[in-house]
Amino acid sequence: MTRTAIITGSTSGIGLAIAHRLAAQGCNVVVNSFSDTAEDHAAAESIAARHGARAAYIKADMSKPAECRALIAAAAERFGTADILVNNAGIQHVAPVEAFPVEKWDAIIAINLSSAFHTTAAAIPLMKAAGWGRIVNIASAHGLVASPFKSAYVSAKHGIMGFTKTVALEIARDGITCNAVCPGYVLTPLVEAQIPDQMKAHDMDRETVIREVMLEKQPTKEFVTVEQIAATVSFLCSEDAAQINGTHISVDGGWTAE
Ligand code: NAD
Repeated sequence: MTRTAIITGSTSGIGLAIAHRLAAQGCNVVVNSFSDTAEDHAAAESIAARHGARAAYIKADMSKPAECRALIAAAAERFGTADILVNNAGIQHVAPVEAFPVEKWDAIIAINLSSAFHTTAAAIPLMKAAGWGRIVNIASAHGLVASPFKSAYVSAKHGIMGFTKTVALEIARDGITCNAVCPGYVLTPLVEAQIPDQMKAHDMDRETVIREVMLEKQPTKEFVTVEQIAATVSFLCSEDAAQINGTHISVDGGWTAE
């Protein structure tokens, strides 16, 4: 049976790797971002071409509740089902609490936390009707522990961990699972974009920020790869993972073991 996978925020980084991985396994994939550019559409086309899968780009701004819900409806209309939902879209901003811009706080809570509520609420009835579903929330090591200057991000990611557990209890008897993946530092555009802010916040050069701020917490001293996150998501979507529900898998090189 061909499953349909919706991956929010999947035109770059971790989401794009997840879309490739699930397409390679034969899923129909929905690629999403808010920008609706030629590159966004090309990302879906290249997934389809590379894996011989069906892939569609659907624009939806994850900061807008109605668009989150419309994404699920549009995906189901396009492919007939909405079997796998990966809540991946996320943004970051780094600043001390007392200087944290209100609009950045609101955007991070909306995109990194509330969007998952809206997409999940829209997807569950379709998954229940099919008697099968997988919801995977891309949280973070920051869903388990904090770092300074990331108050909104850490709050949103801790929030998504609670949301994951709550949804898991609600859908446990419907053939659906809901879990989180908690990556450590993965070298993606999101992380690249943090480096200048971190350099400013810590008064350090680029190499020192990477070594002492980012990989300082990661005992392996290596970035996680996007493929390693995609493989973890793929496992959680498999039949072997049917009894894994309401928990998380850390892929953080040992960061949160300390
Ligand atoms: P990225 O910046 O490469 O990708 C983010 C994606 O989200 C992009 O496709 C972007 O278009 C999309 N997006 C942003 N705002 C959106 C909006 N309003 N509506 C729809 N889409 C939107 O980032 P990434 O590093 O691949 O991060 C993906 C997820 O992984 C995020 O939730 C992030 O918090 C989480 N994460 C990343 C790391 C890391 O080290 N990169 C670590 C832990 C967790």
